[in-house]
Amino acid sequence: MTDLLSLPMQELTRWVTQELGEPKYRAKQLYDWLHKKQVRTFGEMSSLPAALRQRLGETAFIAPVESRLKLESQLDGTKKFLFALGDGNCVEAVWMEYHHGPSLCISTQVGCRMGCKFCASTLGGLVRNLTPGELLGEVYEAQRQTGRKISSLVLMGIGEPLDNLQNVLTFLDILCSEEGQHLGYRHISLSTCGLIPGIRELMDKKLGLTLSISLHAPEDGARSAIMPVNRQYPIGELMEVCREYFTVTGRRISYEYALIDGVNDTPEQAAALARLLEGQICHVNLIPVNPVAERETRRSSRAAVERFGPERVAVGGDAREGLVRTAGWEENAGVDYLAFARQMEDLGVRHIIFTDIDTDGVLAGPAFDRLEALQKTVSCAITASGGVSSNADLRALRDQGLYAAIVGKAWYAGAVDLAQAVEEGGPQ
Ligand code: SF4
Repeated sequence: MTDLLSLPMQELTRWVTQELGEPKYRAKQLYDWLHKKQVRTFGEMSSLPAALRQRLGETAFIAPVESRLKLESQLDGTKKFLFALGDGNCVEAVWMEYHHGPSLCISTQVGCRMGCKFCASTLGGLVRNLTPGELLGEVYEAQRQTGRKISSLVLMGIGEPLDNLQNVLTFLDILCSEEGQHLGYRHISLSTCGLIPGIRELMDKKLGLTLSISLHAPEDGARSAIMPVNRQYPIGELMEVCREYFTVTGRRISYEYALIDGVNDTPEQAAALARLLEGQICHVNLIPVNPVAERETRRSSRAAVERFGPERVAVGGDAREGLVRTAGWEENAGVDYLAFARQMEDLGVRHIIFTDIDTDGVLAGPAFDRLEALQKTVSCAITASGGVSSNADLRALRDQGLYAAIVGKAWYAGAVDLAQAVEEGGPQ
């Protein structure tokens, strides 16, 4: 049986003409049904003759991706999907609403073999790669569920995209094709733990997408201890290819740094991080690590984060270009956000993104009162989802020539952990 959703236009045309003996224009019609109208069954393809629809049903399939669970924030429209694949495996995706349109974060593998010590996705190892059709299925099903089209895409869910690179490239080829959904590569972000050959392949293709590196430590010792991939691709080589990536593509890299208690959160490590990234035009996203029940990693204390200090890792030689700030995250931590906004304004920051980075939480409570005041000072975008969202927003703002800052969840009183709700079989 042929997996039709996984075939780019050229291959579909070859299959339709050579395997089915049908004229070329049938391939165009089929592609249109699959990738523009995004139907799930051959029966819905009303412009195709009944006999052809029947033959399609006998020789091919459309990879099934079905929503099993949808959790939705009542406040900002963030949705978390649990998608079931044809073989019963499940993956997650998160839909986020932004001022520039909806963004979707999808999974690229069932499980992951990278073994990062702070990550729940790798606990059972890699089960299998998602096919291009299943990757498209995540996008199409999320759009069916919401009745809307995404304006940006993030590959930062379960799995390492560069460990499934050929399928990911085929998927992007179809998603971005003019005859398909025609999403621009500039609206796509791909996150990797640092598989250098894959980064090189992406660079050589000059696709124009944004690369995000899960860095999480500035030296080999600490990084290898939490990210086994570092033993194969150490930081020095990773930085070399990242600098090259920027030179070749002109696309600024985002570095993710999850603060873990006693592992990567000392002031010395902050200084080492600043030295490591010196001269790079890039973004750093400081994220308090998400505690995982089966792991021993705990998030850094607020005091440790303050000591780590965002100013130490201001990058790009100009605070306005690479400003990163993580506030503490005890609820109502008493941070003066209005003063913070004014400071940012003085620095020339024109937009601030508030993001509840460490839980997929929901904004609520007195925070909103203060937000109103803030919005009079600086333009604010608010998101209540994971770090994945903040990067997409940063890029969108950067693409418009604007600047942004990130603030952690400190004042998100009443935050609800959607992940926990999933475990409890929470609201659907
Ligand atoms: S590469 Fe990503 S998904 Fe895989 S173990 Fe590391 S953090 Fe988890």
